[in-house]
Amino acid sequence: MTTDSSSDSAAARLATIRDDIARAAAAARRDPAGIELVAVSKTHPAEAIEPLLGAGQASFGENRVQEAQAKWPALRRTDTRLHLVGQLQSNKADDAVELFNVIHSVDRPRLVDALARAMDKAGRRPDCFIQVDVGEEPQKGGVALADLPSLLATARDAKLPVVGLMCVPPADVEAAPYFALTAKLARDHGLAGLSMGMSSDYETAVMLGATVVRVGTALFGSRG
Ligand SMILES: *Cc1c(COP(=O)(O)O)cnc(C)c1O
Repeated sequence: MTTDSSSDSAAARLATIRDDIARAAAAARRDPAGIELVAVSKTHPAEAIEPLLGAGQASFGENRVQEAQAKWPALRRTDTRLHLVGQLQSNKADDAVELFNVIHSVDRPRLVDALARAMDKAGRRPDCFIQVDVGEEPQKGGVALADLPSLLATARDAKLPVVGLMCVPPADVEAAPYFALTAKLARDHGLAGLSMGMSSDYETAVMLGATVVRVGTALFGSRG
């Protein structure tokens, strides 16, 4: 007989994280219903994901289109929301629009054009976040702060459904100032969505206004 201790613990970790989010939201006088927890399942197999589906988790994140195409068609339920949280090549725009409900990594005009064409073709319009390079780390993707206004104008002209800003702050430093900056930029540009906060800092992100937190390791364990 197999034990289901791993699924118990996945469900338990999920419950803990939801509690943490609710507590951080309460401290910031926010409604926790306005915060979407995305379970970042990249590199983890179906067996690790199923217990979370069973526990009622609806939102999942992947960072590679091909991996998501291989895993999710068989797994996804009618209420599953798939989020693309990794960098996206323009030549994968069609596949991404086909599969994902939300795309977090829009960061350059060429990708805006490719996504707009893909959406027209598919007749589907996934919500889009503009990823901002808050830590000036171009290798992570994200639009430079100086180029954000023009990229937003381009995305709006192309009729992308831009719902907010996304950031990945530098590792190993306090994330709060980067979250606060991203929140201010979103406010300045009239955007309500804020995708920020990962395993080590999702509570801080919630206090500073995150509407989407992207949590992998704290839910699934390390990616090895
Ligand atoms: C992997 C990843 C996450 C999850 O990171 P954890 O530290 O494992 O929670 C969140 N956002 C992005 C963009 C990622 O690539």
